[in-house]
Amino acid sequence: MHHAELTTIQPVELLEVLKSYPFLAPYQLTFCAETEGGMPLYRSLFPVCETIAQSLLCGKACQTAVEDAVQRAMGENRAVVFRCQMGLLNFAVPLRGRDIPFTCLIGGGVREKDVDLAPMESLAQTDSVDAIALLEELENLVAVTEEEVTETARKVHELLPTLLGRNIHTLVFENTMRRLASISGVAGGIDAAKTADEVLGLLSETLGILFDIGRIAMLSPEGNSTFSMKGLWGMEPDLGTMPAARALSIFPRNRKENVVALDDECRTIFPEIAANKGLCIRFASNSDFLGIMVLFDAAITRRDKLLVQLVADRASAKLLRLQEEEKHSADNAQATKLMTMFTALSRAASKEELNERILAMAADLADASCGSLMFIDENGENLKIEAALGMNMQLAQSMVVQVGSGIAGKVAASGHPLLVNDIEKDKRIGIPNRPRFKTKSFVSIPIKLRESVAGVLNLSDKKNQGIFTEDDLNLLITFADHASIMIERALSIERADFLEQLSITDPLTGLYNRRFLKRRMEEELARSIRQNLSLTVMLIDLDNFKIYNDLCGHLAGDRALKKMARILSDTARQMDVVTRYGGEEFCIILPGTSKKESLFVAERIRREIEGEEFSHEENLPQGRLTASIGVSSFPEDGNTEAVLVKAADVALYRAKSEGRNRVVISGPPPAEEEQGTRLKTVTNLP
Ligand code: GH3
Ligand code: MG
Ligand code: MG
Repeated sequence: MHHAELTTIQPVELLEVLKSYPFLAPYQLTFCAETEGGMPLYRSLFPVCETIAQSLLCGKACQTAVEDAVQRAMGENRAVVFRCQMGLLNFAVPLRGRDIPFTCLIGGGVREKDVDLAPMESLAQTDSVDAIALLEELENLVAVTEEEVTETARKVHELLPTLLGRNIHTLVFENTMRRLASISGVAGGIDAAKTADEVLGLLSETLGILFDIGRIAMLSPEGNSTFSMKGLWGMEPDLGTMPAARALSIFPRNRKENVVALDDECRTIFPEIAANKGLCIRFASNSDFLGIMVLFDAAITRRDKLLVQLVADRASAKLLRLQEEEKHSADNAQATKLMTMFTALSRAASKEELNERILAMAADLADASCGSLMFIDENGENLKIEAALGMNMQLAQSMVVQVGSGIAGKVAASGHPLLVNDIEKDKRIGIPNRPRFKTKSFVSIPIKLRESVAGVLNLSDKKNQGIFTEDDLNLLITFADHASIMIERALSIERADFLEQLSITDPLTGLYNRRFLKRRMEEELARSIRQNLSLTVMLIDLDNFKIYNDLCGHLAGDRALKKMARILSDTARQMDVVTRYGGEEFCIILPGTSKKESLFVAERIRREIEGEEFSHEENLPQGRLTASIGVSSFPEDGNTEAVLVKAADVALYRAKSEGRNRVVISGPPPAEEEQGTRLKTVTNLP
């Protein structure tokens, strides 16, 4: 945008200043500019004229009346009061000034007490004019006398030169400054908002009041092919839907700006909304698209557009953050639920019990009341039910399904899960709904051990008579994936220590163990890569713990380790994963934590441990039990579990060799001024 565009006074801005004079308040105002092709009106005709303008006759007649008045006003340099062909009073006042790209002010949109109905009647006879709507419009106009209009026109004529001479820029800039102040105030409110609705509510209210906009709506994607439209300000809450392609056409693909003004297209895009133009604000990042806010009939200058853009960008960033947080906490809730389940699974005393539990949990996850867990026999030909829910077990055990036939048999043969929402209609099955199923919705998921199918998990009869969804299916696939590890172990290690092998927690501290850490870290890393988030890994090792054990005894050592577990769990956020990595070594995964932030977190943990009292610690060389911490982060230090842990370990080694009780962050060598502090960085050695 050129600076000139910002300093030239624009019609809407001058109108705004004029509108602040009480004697002009009842009038609707517009500007005419002389061009070679004729005399265009800057703003649309007055609303009352709009109703009439549906008639071509009136449109032309109106133009003639205005042109005539403008010519007289300009030619004689005086205010002219005139009647349009509707018999309504209007005025035309010439104006001249540098930097003013318009030449005549038109005022109207008022009526006399006794409206002359004759021209209206003749107009109403042309079938395109809605006489009732017209009368309603007229009813709403402010009543004036001809003398008053003449007096008003004279006053404006007098006022305009002073206004323009007194440098209208100042007035306009005052307006802008006032708005800027309001907008920066609102930005704080937006940052503090807790929900997307709050952000949108605040934004629409601000824009509505600040720019005097009557109607604001929000378009949000709903599924793949539609957008829903909701009123935010001055409109019905529910405004129906529109095809996604139409909503998306507002912002052409290669458009960078997030604010676009619609003119004629407005009526095509929003046929149900009578609006001549719209200002559209897009809420999106590079990868996520949240929606479009539409300000109908907004007359906003380029200068104000900048302000709108500022506040909209702020809101956009906030909305994306909220969405991200929501996604993360939902994911976490699910991960926690799954984790609890696996802990419970790990306590199964036998293979049979393990199968029972897997089935019960899967049913619980998907809200199913019936199901079975089947395994392929040694010959690889038949599936046998090993656990059943909602059916007679004896009957179930006698049932044998051939691999390749029936629903479960087909899933076992193909290795692909199946979600069916109408068993009778689904062509993939072609089996009429057997009376055993109360509902017609069914999921069947292969259980894979080392890439080959070992069994099938079937669920049916969703509790509320509902149908299984894609979300159910995905959740069950994740669950089956984890459960298969348990099954695998149960199958291969039918030994006395199989319970210990299955467990994911450490018995002394109750923290997750190293085996679990590896798995969880792979998941978290995959997510971080997908969502472009950082992730930090922290290795924490107690200092001189062998000495502590030797001096204070093994029992005190165990108590110290438990205390450590509590400190670490208390310091970590809910989404962090705290594990006991080895004897007196702990590891924490911090999803969403960047290298920069990790510094503070690690320092806090180090200080907590240093400050904690451990019995007999005064016997240690330094007089207290402390820990050293090595930190590495994705993406800077690598993108696999092994490489990140290695980098953290190298950093930890540095922390030890530099004197212990300190944090070392893996990364480029430390800057000069950082020398001598407890925080060190170390180059990631190969
Ligand atoms: P550094 O500061 O270099 O880490 O010295 P350190 O003595 O802590 O390291 P080292 O690896 O030589 O010794 C670790 C000790 O931790 C060895 C063992 O006695 C103790 N330890 C490991 N696991 C347990 C446990 O479960 N309970 C108890 N009480 N001690 C343990
Ligand atoms: Mg140690
Ligand atoms: Mg150690």
